[in-house]
Amino acid sequence: MGARAQQNSRFEFAVCYTARLSLCGTTIMTTTTLSVDALPVTRPRVTELSRAALAEWCIERGVPGYRADQIRRWIFGKRVRSFTEMHDIPASLRTQLSEAFSLFPAKIVQHLTARDQTEKLLLELHDGEFIECVLMREPDRRTICISTQVGCAMGCVFCASGLQGLKRNLTTGEILEQVLLLDRLLGPDERITNLVVMGIGEPLANLRALLPALDSVSDKGGLGLGARRITISTVGLPEKIRELAKTGKAYNLAVSLHAPNNALRTQLVPVNEKIGIDEVLEAADDFFAETGRRVTYEYVLLSGLNDSPQEARELARRLQSRIAHVNLIPMNGVTDLPFVEPTAPRTNEFVAILESFGIPATVRKRKGADIDAACGQLRLHQLSPAPASSDAVDEPVLRDE
Ligand code: SAH
Repeated sequence: MGARAQQNSRFEFAVCYTARLSLCGTTIMTTTTLSVDALPVTRPRVTELSRAALAEWCIERGVPGYRADQIRRWIFGKRVRSFTEMHDIPASLRTQLSEAFSLFPAKIVQHLTARDQTEKLLLELHDGEFIECVLMREPDRRTICISTQVGCAMGCVFCASGLQGLKRNLTTGEILEQVLLLDRLLGPDERITNLVVMGIGEPLANLRALLPALDSVSDKGGLGLGARRITISTVGLPEKIRELAKTGKAYNLAVSLHAPNNALRTQLVPVNEKIGIDEVLEAADDFFAETGRRVTYEYVLLSGLNDSPQEARELARRLQSRIAHVNLIPMNGVTDLPFVEPTAPRTNEFVAILESFGIPATVRKRKGADIDAACGQLRLHQLSPAPASSDAVDEPVLRDE
Protein backbone atom coordinates (compact mmCIF):
# COMPACT_ATOMS: atom_id res chain seq x y z
CA MET A 1 0.00 0.00 0.00
CA GLY A 2 1.37 3.46 -0.87
CA ALA A 3 2.07 6.07 1.76
CA ARG A 4 -0.94 8.10 0.75
CA ALA A 5 -3.26 5.13 0.85
CA GLN A 6 -1.95 4.22 4.31
CA GLN A 7 -2.54 7.74 5.48
CA ASN A 8 -6.08 7.65 4.17
CA SER A 9 -6.84 4.40 5.85
CA ARG A 10 -5.78 5.84 9.15
CA PHE A 11 -8.01 8.82 8.62
CA GLU A 12 -10.76 6.45 7.81
CA PHE A 13 -10.93 4.69 11.12
CA ALA A 14 -10.09 7.78 13.06
CA VAL A 15 -13.31 9.43 12.02
CA CYS A 16 -15.40 6.95 13.86
CA TYR A 17 -14.84 8.58 17.20
CA THR A 18 -16.49 11.68 15.89
CA ALA A 19 -19.38 9.76 14.60
CA ARG A 20 -19.84 8.09 17.93
CA LEU A 21 -19.07 10.73 20.43
CA SER A 22 -19.18 14.28 19.34
CA LEU A 23 -21.78 16.66 20.54
CA CYS A 24 -21.83 19.23 17.80
CA GLY A 25 -24.97 18.59 15.84
CA THR A 26 -26.95 20.71 13.52
CA THR A 27 -29.60 19.16 11.35
CA ILE A 28 -30.80 15.62 11.48
CA MET A 29 -31.37 15.08 7.79
CA THR A 30 -33.58 12.02 7.95
CA THR A 31 -35.00 9.69 10.52
CA THR A 32 -36.24 6.41 9.14
CA THR A 33 -36.91 2.96 10.45
CA LEU A 34 -35.98 -0.32 8.84
CA SER A 35 -38.42 -3.16 9.32
CA VAL A 36 -37.89 -5.16 12.50
CA ASP A 37 -39.59 -7.86 14.51
CA ALA A 38 -41.54 -6.93 17.61
CA LEU A 39 -39.77 -6.86 20.96
CA PRO A 40 -39.04 -8.78 23.10
CA VAL A 41 -37.47 -11.63 21.22
CA THR A 42 -37.33 -15.11 22.61
CA ARG A 43 -35.68 -16.86 19.66
CA PRO A 44 -31.89 -16.61 19.38
CA ARG A 45 -30.39 -14.91 16.35
CA VAL A 46 -29.34 -17.43 13.73
CA THR A 47 -26.06 -15.48 13.57
CA GLU A 48 -25.19 -16.67 17.08
CA LEU A 49 -24.27 -19.94 15.35
CA SER A 50 -21.00 -20.47 13.52
CA ARG A 51 -21.12 -22.03 10.07
CA ALA A 52 -20.22 -25.39 11.64
CA ALA A 53 -22.92 -25.12 14.33
CA LEU A 54 -25.55 -24.19 11.76
CA ALA A 55 -24.51 -27.15 9.57
CA GLU A 56 -24.87 -29.39 12.62
CA TRP A 57 -28.32 -27.95 13.32
CA CYS A 58 -29.31 -28.78 9.72
CA ILE A 59 -27.90 -32.30 9.93
CA GLU A 60 -29.78 -32.94 13.19
CA ARG A 61 -32.95 -32.20 11.23
CA GLY A 62 -32.05 -34.58 8.43
CA VAL A 63 -30.99 -31.78 6.10
CA PRO A 64 -27.57 -31.76 4.38
CA GLY A 65 -24.93 -29.57 6.02
CA TYR A 66 -24.36 -27.56 2.85
CA ARG A 67 -27.71 -25.86 3.50
CA ALA A 68 -25.87 -23.89 6.18
CA ASP A 69 -23.68 -22.34 3.49
CA GLN A 70 -26.74 -21.42 1.47
CA ILE A 71 -28.44 -19.86 4.48
CA ARG A 72 -25.31 -17.86 5.29
CA ARG A 73 -25.04 -16.70 1.68
CA TRP A 74 -28.52 -15.26 1.92
CA ILE A 75 -27.75 -13.53 5.21
CA PHE A 76 -24.25 -12.22 4.51
CA GLY A 77 -24.17 -11.98 0.73
CA LYS A 78 -27.69 -11.34 -0.46
CA ARG A 79 -28.92 -9.02 2.26
CA VAL A 80 -32.25 -10.73 2.93
CA ARG A 81 -34.35 -9.51 5.84
CA SER A 82 -36.30 -12.69 6.50
CA PHE A 83 -36.00 -16.46 6.19
CA THR A 84 -38.92 -16.50 3.75
CA GLU A 85 -36.78 -14.71 1.15
CA MET A 86 -34.31 -17.63 1.02
CA HIS A 87 -35.72 -19.06 -2.20
CA ASP A 88 -33.43 -22.02 -2.72
CA ILE A 89 -34.03 -23.33 0.81
CA PRO A 90 -36.87 -25.89 1.05
CA ALA A 91 -40.03 -24.35 2.50
CA SER A 92 -40.08 -26.80 5.41
CA LEU A 93 -36.56 -25.80 6.41
CA ARG A 94 -37.42 -22.11 6.13
CA THR A 95 -40.33 -22.72 8.49
CA GLN A 96 -38.08 -24.55 10.94
CA LEU A 97 -35.57 -21.71 10.76
CA SER A 98 -38.25 -19.11 11.51
CA GLU A 99 -39.52 -21.16 14.43
CA ALA A 100 -36.07 -21.66 15.92
CA PHE A 101 -34.30 -18.40 15.17
CA SER A 102 -34.66 -14.68 14.63
CA LEU A 103 -32.75 -12.64 12.04
CA PHE A 104 -33.13 -8.93 12.92
CA PRO A 105 -34.77 -8.74 16.33
CA ALA A 106 -33.30 -5.38 17.39
CA LYS A 107 -35.52 -2.34 17.12
CA ILE A 108 -34.11 0.60 15.20
CA VAL A 109 -35.04 3.43 17.51
CA GLN A 110 -33.29 6.10 15.45
CA HIS A 111 -31.72 6.18 12.00
CA LEU A 112 -29.87 9.42 11.28
CA THR A 113 -28.36 10.42 7.96
CA ALA A 114 -25.89 13.29 7.75
CA ARG A 115 -25.34 15.59 4.80
CA ASP A 116 -22.09 13.73 4.03
CA GLN A 117 -24.06 10.46 3.96
CA THR A 118 -22.75 9.19 7.29
CA GLU A 119 -25.52 7.13 8.85
CA LYS A 120 -26.05 6.16 12.47
CA LEU A 121 -28.37 3.67 14.06
CA LEU A 122 -29.55 3.57 17.67
CA LEU A 123 -30.73 0.03 18.38
CA GLU A 124 -32.87 -1.24 21.22
CA LEU A 125 -32.15 -4.81 22.28
CA HIS A 126 -34.67 -7.30 23.65
CA ASP A 127 -33.85 -6.37 27.25
CA GLY A 128 -34.40 -2.66 26.71
CA GLU A 129 -30.69 -1.80 26.40
CA PHE A 130 -29.41 0.54 23.68
CA ILE A 131 -26.36 0.42 21.43
CA GLU A 132 -25.13 2.48 18.48
CA CYS A 133 -23.39 1.79 15.20
CA VAL A 134 -22.24 3.96 12.30
CA LEU A 135 -21.70 3.81 8.53
CA MET A 136 -19.24 6.32 7.02
CA ARG A 137 -18.86 6.98 3.32
CA GLU A 138 -15.72 8.15 1.52
CA PRO A 139 -15.47 8.13 -2.27
CA ASP A 140 -13.78 4.73 -2.31
CA ARG A 141 -14.64 3.44 1.15
CA ARG A 142 -17.55 2.35 3.24
CA THR A 143 -16.40 2.06 6.84
CA ILE A 144 -18.60 0.78 9.63
CA CYS A 145 -18.08 1.26 13.37
CA ILE A 146 -19.69 -1.19 15.78
CA SER A 147 -20.23 -1.61 19.54
CA THR A 148 -19.23 -4.64 21.59
CA GLN A 149 -20.77 -3.93 24.99
CA VAL A 150 -23.72 -2.12 26.53
CA GLY A 151 -21.85 0.63 28.36
CA CYS A 152 -18.23 0.23 29.40
CA ALA A 153 -16.33 -0.56 32.60
CA MET A 154 -13.08 1.24 31.72
CA GLY A 155 -14.22 4.61 33.06
CA CYS A 156 -12.18 6.89 30.75
CA VAL A 157 -13.09 10.28 32.15
CA PHE A 158 -13.79 11.95 28.79
CA CYS A 159 -15.89 9.16 27.28
CA ALA A 160 -19.69 9.07 27.11
CA SER A 161 -19.88 5.29 26.86
CA GLY A 162 -18.67 4.57 30.36
CA LEU A 163 -20.56 7.28 32.21
CA GLN A 164 -23.12 4.82 33.49
CA GLY A 165 -20.79 1.85 33.79
CA LEU A 166 -21.00 -1.53 32.09
CA LYS A 167 -24.37 -3.17 31.71
CA ARG A 168 -23.39 -6.31 29.82
CA ASN A 169 -21.44 -7.82 26.96
CA LEU A 170 -23.06 -8.08 23.56
CA THR A 171 -23.48 -11.52 22.07
CA THR A 172 -21.93 -12.58 18.76
CA GLY A 173 -25.32 -12.22 17.11
CA GLU A 174 -25.86 -8.73 18.52
CA ILE A 175 -22.46 -7.66 17.18
CA LEU A 176 -23.23 -9.18 13.79
CA GLU A 177 -26.68 -7.64 13.66
CA GLN A 178 -25.05 -4.18 13.65
CA VAL A 179 -22.83 -5.21 10.73
CA LEU A 180 -25.73 -6.67 8.77
CA LEU A 181 -28.08 -3.75 9.40
CA LEU A 182 -25.42 -1.26 8.28
CA ASP A 183 -24.68 -3.41 5.24
CA ARG A 184 -28.36 -3.21 4.32
CA LEU A 185 -28.15 0.58 4.30
CA LEU A 186 -25.80 0.35 1.31
CA GLY A 187 -26.91 0.49 -2.30
CA PRO A 188 -26.67 -2.56 -4.58
CA ASP A 189 -23.25 -1.46 -5.89
CA GLU A 190 -21.82 -0.56 -2.49
CA ARG A 191 -19.88 -2.91 -0.20
CA ILE A 192 -18.44 -2.52 3.29
CA THR A 193 -14.71 -1.94 2.77
CA ASN A 194 -13.53 -1.38 6.36
CA LEU A 195 -14.72 -2.21 9.85
CA VAL A 196 -13.59 -0.53 13.04
CA VAL A 197 -14.46 -1.88 16.46
CA MET A 198 -14.57 1.54 18.11
CA GLY A 199 -18.14 1.90 19.20
CA ILE A 200 -19.48 1.51 22.73
CA GLY A 201 -17.52 -0.83 25.00
CA GLU A 202 -14.07 -2.35 25.41
CA PRO A 203 -13.75 -4.91 22.60
CA LEU A 204 -10.99 -6.93 24.24
CA ALA A 205 -13.14 -7.41 27.35
CA ASN A 206 -15.58 -9.26 25.09
CA LEU A 207 -13.28 -11.23 22.81
CA ARG A 208 -15.30 -14.38 23.34
CA ALA A 209 -18.23 -12.88 21.42
CA LEU A 210 -16.23 -10.57 19.16
CA LEU A 211 -13.88 -13.11 17.60
CA PRO A 212 -16.60 -15.42 16.24
CA ALA A 213 -18.43 -12.35 14.93
CA LEU A 214 -15.28 -11.18 13.13
CA ASP A 215 -14.81 -14.70 11.77
CA SER A 216 -18.20 -14.39 10.08
CA VAL A 217 -17.29 -10.93 8.82
CA SER A 218 -13.99 -12.06 7.35
CA ASP A 219 -14.90 -15.58 6.17
CA LYS A 220 -15.41 -16.07 2.45
CA GLY A 221 -18.74 -17.72 3.24
CA GLY A 222 -19.60 -14.72 5.42
CA LEU A 223 -19.17 -11.09 4.46
CA GLY A 224 -15.71 -11.79 3.01
CA LEU A 225 -14.13 -8.63 4.39
CA GLY A 226 -10.36 -9.17 4.73
CA ALA A 227 -8.97 -9.16 8.28
CA ARG A 228 -6.56 -6.40 7.23
CA ARG A 229 -9.53 -4.14 6.79
CA ILE A 230 -10.65 -4.67 10.37
CA THR A 231 -9.30 -2.55 13.24
CA ILE A 232 -9.86 -3.25 16.92
CA SER A 233 -9.40 -0.41 19.38
CA THR A 234 -8.54 -1.17 23.00
CA VAL A 235 -7.89 0.69 26.22
CA GLY A 236 -4.89 -1.66 26.47
CA LEU A 237 -5.58 -4.96 28.23
CA PRO A 238 -2.16 -6.67 27.96
CA GLU A 239 -3.14 -10.33 28.12
CA LYS A 240 -6.06 -9.80 25.75
CA ILE A 241 -3.78 -8.02 23.28
CA ARG A 242 -1.53 -11.09 23.31
CA GLU A 243 -4.53 -13.37 22.92
CA LEU A 244 -5.65 -11.34 19.91
CA ALA A 245 -2.19 -11.59 18.36
CA LYS A 246 -2.26 -15.36 18.73
CA THR A 247 -5.49 -15.77 16.73
CA GLY A 248 -3.32 -15.63 13.63
CA LYS A 249 -5.72 -13.15 12.02
CA ALA A 250 -4.34 -10.00 10.45
CA TYR A 251 -6.52 -7.60 12.40
CA ASN A 252 -5.15 -4.12 13.06
CA LEU A 253 -4.66 -3.04 16.64
CA ALA A 254 -5.26 0.49 17.90
CA VAL A 255 -4.25 1.21 21.50
CA SER A 256 -5.83 4.13 23.34
CA LEU A 257 -2.84 5.68 25.11
CA HIS A 258 -4.05 9.25 25.71
CA ALA A 259 -1.09 10.18 27.96
CA PRO A 260 2.69 9.73 27.92
CA ASN A 261 3.14 8.88 31.62
CA ASN A 262 1.40 6.90 34.32
CA ALA A 263 0.37 9.82 36.51
CA LEU A 264 -1.56 11.49 33.70
CA ARG A 265 -2.82 8.28 32.11
CA THR A 266 -4.27 7.05 35.39
CA GLN A 267 -6.05 10.37 35.75
CA LEU A 268 -7.62 10.07 32.29
CA VAL A 269 -7.90 6.30 31.95
CA PRO A 270 -8.46 5.01 35.52
CA VAL A 271 -7.97 1.37 34.58
CA ASN A 272 -4.34 2.30 33.95
CA GLU A 273 -3.69 2.27 37.68
CA LYS A 274 -3.82 -1.52 37.69
CA ILE A 275 -1.99 -1.96 34.40
CA GLY A 276 0.58 0.77 33.75
CA ILE A 277 1.86 2.21 30.49
CA ASP A 278 4.93 -0.01 30.27
CA GLU A 279 2.79 -3.15 30.42
CA VAL A 280 0.51 -1.81 27.70
CA LEU A 281 3.44 -0.91 25.44
CA GLU A 282 5.10 -4.27 26.03
CA ALA A 283 1.93 -6.08 25.03
CA ALA A 284 1.64 -3.91 21.92
CA ASP A 285 5.29 -4.73 21.12
CA ASP A 286 4.44 -8.41 21.47
CA PHE A 287 1.49 -7.92 19.13
CA PHE A 288 3.83 -6.36 16.56
CA ALA A 289 6.40 -9.13 17.02
CA GLU A 290 3.74 -11.81 16.56
CA THR A 291 1.79 -10.28 13.68
CA GLY A 292 4.20 -7.86 12.00
CA ARG A 293 1.38 -5.33 11.98
CA ARG A 294 2.18 -1.78 12.99
CA VAL A 295 0.26 -0.63 16.04
CA THR A 296 -1.64 2.65 16.07
CA TYR A 297 -1.69 4.66 19.29
CA GLU A 298 -4.75 6.77 19.84
CA TYR A 299 -4.40 9.99 21.79
CA VAL A 300 -7.43 12.11 22.64
CA LEU A 301 -6.33 15.74 22.79
CA LEU A 302 -7.84 17.42 25.84
CA SER A 303 -7.15 21.13 25.99
CA GLY A 304 -4.85 22.05 28.87
CA LEU A 305 -4.61 18.48 30.14
CA ASN A 306 -2.48 16.36 27.81
CA ASP A 307 -1.84 18.59 24.79
CA SER A 308 1.30 20.54 25.73
CA PRO A 309 4.55 20.46 23.74
CA GLN A 310 6.14 18.80 26.74
CA GLU A 311 3.63 15.94 26.59
CA ALA A 312 4.16 15.65 22.85
CA ARG A 313 7.91 15.26 23.41
CA GLU A 314 7.38 12.76 26.22
CA LEU A 315 5.05 10.74 24.02
CA ALA A 316 7.53 10.89 21.14
CA ARG A 317 10.35 9.62 23.35
CA ARG A 318 8.14 6.75 24.54
CA LEU A 319 7.31 5.65 21.01
CA GLN A 320 10.53 6.59 19.23
CA SER A 321 12.04 3.12 19.29
CA ARG A 322 8.85 1.56 18.01
CA ILE A 323 7.22 1.10 14.62
CA ALA A 324 4.20 3.11 15.57
CA HIS A 325 1.67 5.57 14.32
CA VAL A 326 -0.16 8.13 16.42
CA ASN A 327 -3.76 9.01 15.74
CA LEU A 328 -4.69 12.25 17.48
CA ILE A 329 -8.38 12.71 18.31
CA PRO A 330 -9.49 16.20 19.27
CA MET A 331 -11.89 15.82 22.20
CA ASN A 332 -15.50 15.53 21.15
CA GLY A 333 -17.72 17.30 23.63
CA VAL A 334 -19.86 15.18 25.91
CA THR A 335 -22.77 16.70 27.79
CA ASP A 336 -21.85 17.49 31.40
CA LEU A 337 -18.15 16.73 30.88
CA PRO A 338 -15.76 19.67 31.19
CA PHE A 339 -13.20 18.66 28.55
CA VAL A 340 -12.68 20.53 25.28
CA GLU A 341 -10.50 20.07 22.23
CA PRO A 342 -7.37 22.21 21.79
CA THR A 343 -7.12 24.99 19.21
CA ALA A 344 -5.94 24.08 15.73
CA PRO A 345 -2.47 25.68 16.20
CA ARG A 346 -1.97 23.75 19.44
CA THR A 347 -2.96 20.51 17.71
CA ASN A 348 -0.67 21.24 14.77
CA GLU A 349 2.23 21.90 17.12
CA PHE A 350 1.64 18.52 18.78
CA VAL A 351 1.72 16.83 15.37
CA ALA A 352 4.86 18.71 14.34
CA ILE A 353 6.71 17.63 17.49
CA LEU A 354 5.83 13.97 16.96
CA GLU A 355 6.93 14.20 13.34
CA SER A 356 10.19 15.88 14.31
CA PHE A 357 10.94 12.69 16.25
CA GLY A 358 10.11 10.63 13.16
CA ILE A 359 6.75 9.43 14.44
CA PRO A 360 3.97 9.51 11.86
CA ALA A 361 0.91 11.25 13.25
CA THR A 362 -2.50 12.05 11.86
CA VAL A 363 -5.43 14.02 13.21
CA ARG A 364 -8.87 12.53 13.07
CA LYS A 365 -10.99 13.71 10.20
CA ARG A 366 -14.50 14.73 11.03
CA LYS A 367 -17.41 12.89 9.43
CA GLY A 368 -21.12 13.23 9.88
CA ALA A 369 -20.65 16.50 11.72
CA ASP A 370 -24.29 17.42 11.44
CA ILE A 371 -25.48 14.35 13.28
CA ASP A 372 -22.66 14.13 15.81
CA ALA A 373 -24.80 15.54 18.53
CA ALA A 374 -27.19 12.70 18.36
CA CYS A 375 -24.72 9.92 17.86
CA GLY A 376 -22.63 8.84 20.81
CA GLN A 377 -24.96 10.56 23.11
CA LEU A 378 -28.02 8.89 21.68
CA ARG A 379 -27.78 6.09 24.18
CA LEU A 380 -26.99 8.46 27.02
CA HIS A 381 -29.95 10.66 26.20
CA GLN A 382 -32.12 7.61 25.87
CA LEU A 383 -31.17 6.57 29.40
CA SER A 384 -31.51 10.00 31.03
CA PRO A 385 -33.16 12.49 28.69
CA ALA A 386 -31.75 16.01 29.03
CA PRO A 387 -34.17 18.87 29.65
CA ALA A 388 -35.14 20.56 26.39
CA SER A 389 -33.34 23.79 27.24
CA SER A 390 -29.97 22.08 27.59
CA ASP A 391 -30.37 19.43 24.92
CA ALA A 392 -27.12 19.45 23.00
CA VAL A 393 -28.73 17.85 19.97
CA ASP A 394 -30.39 21.12 19.13
CA GLU A 395 -27.44 23.31 20.04
CA PRO A 396 -24.76 22.92 17.42
CA VAL A 397 -21.18 23.66 18.43
CA LEU A 398 -19.29 24.42 15.26
CA ARG A 399 -15.57 23.90 15.14
CA ASP A 400 -13.02 25.35 12.78
CA GLU A 401 -11.65 22.18 11.22
N1 SAH B 1 -12.66 0.85 24.56
C1 SAH B 1 -11.95 1.05 23.33
C2 SAH B 1 -12.84 1.68 22.25
C3 SAH B 1 -13.26 3.06 22.64
S1 SAH B 1 -13.88 4.13 21.40
C4 SAH B 1 -10.75 1.91 23.55
O1 SAH B 1 -10.55 2.40 24.67
O2 SAH B 1 -9.95 2.07 22.64
C5 SAH B 1 -12.53 4.52 20.42
C6 SAH B 1 -11.69 5.73 20.83
O3 SAH B 1 -12.47 6.90 21.08
C7 SAH B 1 -10.85 5.48 22.06
O4 SAH B 1 -9.53 5.89 21.82
C8 SAH B 1 -11.51 6.39 23.06
O5 SAH B 1 -10.66 6.74 24.11
C9 SAH B 1 -11.90 7.54 22.19
N2 SAH B 1 -12.85 8.47 22.81
C10 SAH B 1 -13.72 8.21 23.79
N3 SAH B 1 -14.40 9.32 24.13
C11 SAH B 1 -13.95 10.32 23.35
C12 SAH B 1 -14.27 11.71 23.21
N4 SAH B 1 -15.20 12.28 23.96
N5 SAH B 1 -13.61 12.42 22.29
C13 SAH B 1 -12.69 11.84 21.50
N6 SAH B 1 -12.35 10.54 21.56
C14 SAH B 1 -12.97 9.78 22.49
